[in-house]
Amino acid sequence: MAAEVSTTYTVPKLEDYSAAALDRAAAELQSALEQEAGAVQTEADHKNFRDRWMARKNGILTQINDLWLKAAPNEAKREVGRWVNELKIFVEQQIEKVQARISGGAQVSADKLDVTLPGTRRPLGAEHPVIKTMNDIVNVFRAMGYSVGTGPEIETDYYNFESLNFPPNHPARDTQDTLFIAGQESKPQRERLLLRTHTSPVQIRTMERQPPPVRVVIPGKVHRSDTADATHSPVFHQVEGLAVDNDITFCDLKGTLDHAMKALFGSDVKTRFFPSFFPFTEPSADVAVSCFKCGGKGCRICKQGGWIELLGCGMVDPNVFEFVKGNGYDPAKISGFAFGMGVERIAMCMYEIDDIQLFYQGDIRFLEQFA
Ligand SMILES: [Zn+2]
Repeated sequence: MAAEVSTTYTVPKLEDYSAAALDRAAAELQSALEQEAGAVQTEADHKNFRDRWMARKNGILTQINDLWLKAAPNEAKREVGRWVNELKIFVEQQIEKVQARISGGAQVSADKLDVTLPGTRRPLGAEHPVIKTMNDIVNVFRAMGYSVGTGPEIETDYYNFESLNFPPNHPARDTQDTLFIAGQESKPQRERLLLRTHTSPVQIRTMERQPPPVRVVIPGKVHRSDTADATHSPVFHQVEGLAVDNDITFCDLKGTLDHAMKALFGSDVKTRFFPSFFPFTEPSADVAVSCFKCGGKGCRICKQGGWIELLGCGMVDPNVFEFVKGNGYDPAKISGFAFGMGVERIAMCMYEIDDIQLFYQGDIRFLEQFA
């Protein structure tokens, strides 16, 4: 509450128009004005203050005009008029000063920092569900002693197909149609560049770099010439793994993947291996995991089957080792297994997402559910 503004001053009638009487009247008015000005704290105070002194109808300046100037005898009018004008200017200046003080004060308080106000909350980024799932998978294998390998997304035909036992014109290439970089017709086929269709080229690159034993897990982005729909995307992610050593058997493969699936989906899940075909493994298998949502009874996630097919695997085909034989990978002495899984497919099962396209649309309403 602002201090009560004293408004006790009233304009007196002048007894006479002597210089002493005018000086006394002026001093009284000025002292009253300064006292009232000092009490003004708010915009509302200031409005009252200004109106009291300046209002056309019955403001103090108007009263001065009526009581002092108009009432003055004719011979004193000129002198009193000049004196009243000086008082008017003084009053206006005081009112302006008070206005400046009030609005200046408002400026300062707006700039002041109120430490009790809640802060501006900046939205925090979070891992994309695909990247999170990919990291979850990678971490399961890192815990088993696997290193992490990466490689180029633009690959040569040699690394993507030929060295993985997809000979030129082999029908298995049809299952992994991809995009080739244009203008390479003059190059030999094995040197032509393409968008990799799987992360498997990194298996060859790893074996070229390091002699056995190898245990590596390879996360990354891959490309297929697929039309986008609810379950297909021309760009998606894989995690592959490769283990090569003396005496690695299919039992090691089964044990490793069974452990990995339990680590990912819970210790209750079971795994099942079905015969399958991949050019770079022999024998090959598809792996299904018992449904981690319904426990195998049948639900929407497992399409009522109780099992979810999640990955492919197999023992490394001796033909693949032939390409890196010079670096210690003699197929007569060593053996290994490889496996691979689609990250989006696993994320879709884990989070019950029924459209793969949601991962790529960048819709915050979708993504913030994983933050
Ligand atoms: Zn189920």
